[in-house]
Amino acid sequence: MWDGIIIGGGLAGLIAGIRASERGKHVLIISEGAGSLTYSSGALNFGDVVQLRSRENHPYALIEENVIQAGMDYFQKLFPDYQGVCGRTQTLFTPLGSPRTANIIPSGQNAAVLQDAKRIVLMAPEGMKDFFSKIIKTNLKICYPQCIVDIYPFRISAFEAWHAIGKPVTGMEYARYWQSGPGIAELKRVLAGVTITCSETVVLFPGLATAFSEPLKEVLSETPFPVIEMTSFPPSAGGHNLYNALKQKFKSLGGELLMGTGVQRIELQEKECRKAIVSSKGRPTAFAAHSFILATGGILGGGIEVTAEAAQETLLGLPLYVPAEWTKSEFLGEQPYAHTGIEADSDLRPVDPGTKEVLFENLRVAGRMLAHWDPWTDNCGGGVSLTSGWYAGEKL
Ligand SMILES: Cc1cc2nc3c(=O)[nH]c(=O)nc-3n(C[C@H](O)[C@H](O)[C@H](O)COP(=O)(O)OP(=O)(O)OC[C@H]3O[C@@H](n4cnc5c(N)ncnc54)[C@H](O)[C@@H]3O)c2cc1C
Repeated sequence: MWDGIIIGGGLAGLIAGIRASERGKHVLIISEGAGSLTYSSGALNFGDVVQLRSRENHPYALIEENVIQAGMDYFQKLFPDYQGVCGRTQTLFTPLGSPRTANIIPSGQNAAVLQDAKRIVLMAPEGMKDFFSKIIKTNLKICYPQCIVDIYPFRISAFEAWHAIGKPVTGMEYARYWQSGPGIAELKRVLAGVTITCSETVVLFPGLATAFSEPLKEVLSETPFPVIEMTSFPPSAGGHNLYNALKQKFKSLGGELLMGTGVQRIELQEKECRKAIVSSKGRPTAFAAHSFILATGGILGGGIEVTAEAAQETLLGLPLYVPAEWTKSEFLGEQPYAHTGIEADSDLRPVDPGTKEVLFENLRVAGRMLAHWDPWTDNCGGGVSLTSGWYAGEKL
């Protein structure tokens, strides 16, 4: 029997698995898909923790403030390349060349140095999908009026066959190429072609993700100018790299990962979960555990199914908090439906939204499945998943 089964291998499930495995627990993660981290830039937003904790039902308010800091510290110890502190944001670039902020970002994405730049060289890889050099240049000129912005087009032989048939090269494909042996040599050659016309030159590079790659970081450490990585449209290399690093860490600690298979139901005995039932080659297989973590990702992750009639938690039919008003007309504004999720106690165990009674003693809920928050307007998508995942792993 497993000490713990985690259902869902996104950011919350993987962090929970890593922490529990590190504590000596025998853990299985079962995940249908990769989770939303692979769509994100890999930068993590924690939001205004103090303000969010003052909201009675927000996930941050369920757990002690030091848990949020502990989750953040833990993550940075795992991945020292990710820098930042709680309560302070850092600047990075959107794929359109406008600055945005996040709390923890890979050091290569940190754009702080641009404040003092006089010239920006925007690298423009041939045929890169969703790369709009003129729009980026315009945005850069607005945000950094003290800078001259030069576009530096380049073409590499590895993608000649693609260019010949007009096939675009995604940011992910460029990022993968730069990480290969030939890619590293080519990157050196490309960067060597950039001329320095003023000493405060900064190079902005799309389709490059150096986190977790020592050889790439070494190449950039040798250039006479700082190189800043731009994030790309989803799927993004930054998010993918982090996702792969989390999986690798979990496995290196002895955790087992069953990917591509969804849990279909959970066998129950009174107020305890007993077995996760998975369909394998058409036959049901049961995995038994002492404790369970539900990190199935809410509406986007597949943990909550929404029909015209109702919103339903897909595995256990757990009662959900569903806001009375479902949507608002403002497209990018706060959307009440984002608050749909499972209410939990201070131990992250699911509770009945009406009576607040704990529903299952050996089940914890983490990440996007939790109720009463909006990752976009609260600006804390990664923060809630990371900290609740860490805490669930600590308690498993
Ligand atoms: C495009 C995009 C950009 C983002 N950008 C940022 C950002 O810049 N900063 C930030 O902080 N946050 C960002 N976020 C939010 C952040 O990525 C998410 O809040 C976080 O990754 C959610 O993690 P999670 O583990 O809670 O859920 P998910 O990542 O959704 O993971 C849930 C997992 O559960 C699995 N699952 C579901 N049902 C089952 C089942 N029955 N059996 C087994 N497995 C199941 C799913 O396949 C999935 O793997 C972004 C999100 C998106 C979509």
